[in-house]
Amino acid sequence: MPELPEVEVTARTLARRFDGQRVRAVRIYNPNLRWRISDSLEKCLTGERIEHISRRGKYLLWHLQSGVLISHLGMSGSWRVHEAQRAPVRQRHDHVEVQCDGLIARLNDPRRFGALLWHAHSGGDVLHHPLLAGLGMEPFDPRFDGDWLFAATRGRRSPIKQVLLAGKTVVGVGNIYATECLFAARIHPQTPAGRITRRRYARLAAAIRGILAQAIDLGGSTLRDFRSAEGVDGRFTDFAKAYGREGLACVRCGTRIRRLVLGQRASYFCPRCQRP
Ligand SMILES: [Zn+2]
Repeated sequence: MPELPEVEVTARTLARRFDGQRVRAVRIYNPNLRWRISDSLEKCLTGERIEHISRRGKYLLWHLQSGVLISHLGMSGSWRVHEAQRAPVRQRHDHVEVQCDGLIARLNDPRRFGALLWHAHSGGDVLHHPLLAGLGMEPFDPRFDGDWLFAATRGRRSPIKQVLLAGKTVVGVGNIYATECLFAARIHPQTPAGRITRRRYARLAAAIRGILAQAIDLGGSTLRDFRSAEGVDGRFTDFAKAYGREGLACVRCGTRIRRLVLGQRASYFCPRCQRP
């Protein structure tokens, strides 16, 4: 499943090629994604200049002159960029194509849990869109740090791992990343979020930024393989210090890594150096 690092790499790649381009045509081969793509999408996009492509949480935002195209990759979506003249024939599961001068972007999504929605500027700030309004802080926002996490979690009794996964406090910390960040910060995944001290949150915030940045770099450096179903996430696990390492020695203290299931997701932790 595409996680924040993958979506960030996609946003950067699309932005590099499409910022400033004008949409010449849109083809919708299969409108049946998570929600049916609106019949008017083609009309909304055609002729519009793409001002900028960015990311909020796991949403890609194509900012056009009169609105924003919101794209979510769901479980299996990906955007692929081709030179128009050298574009391969349309692949199975290529559902949408955006054509600009000499360049096309195709949305491929085998499982079709992704979404593609148009939000007109007349509908207000896109960040207030129902899909985006409830999202947590961006981990690379300058306001995000240990003090911010500390303040945001006072009174919270849920385990920190679940608070991270919910995405309502901070976005982008999926299961593998949450496991790794808590290991790096030496916090037991079941620790009630409201009990964690400011100092430990400073370590956690630094871990979240560092580990996500590492995954983004990894995605950027291996972009050629982007079509692999594994994605950044899969390759990232090669570098994991806790995730998937049940029974292996902790790299810090040698104790065997344990596995526990929290909210139906596997967690791995060192029972010695990750404290409640
Ligand atoms: Zn350890």
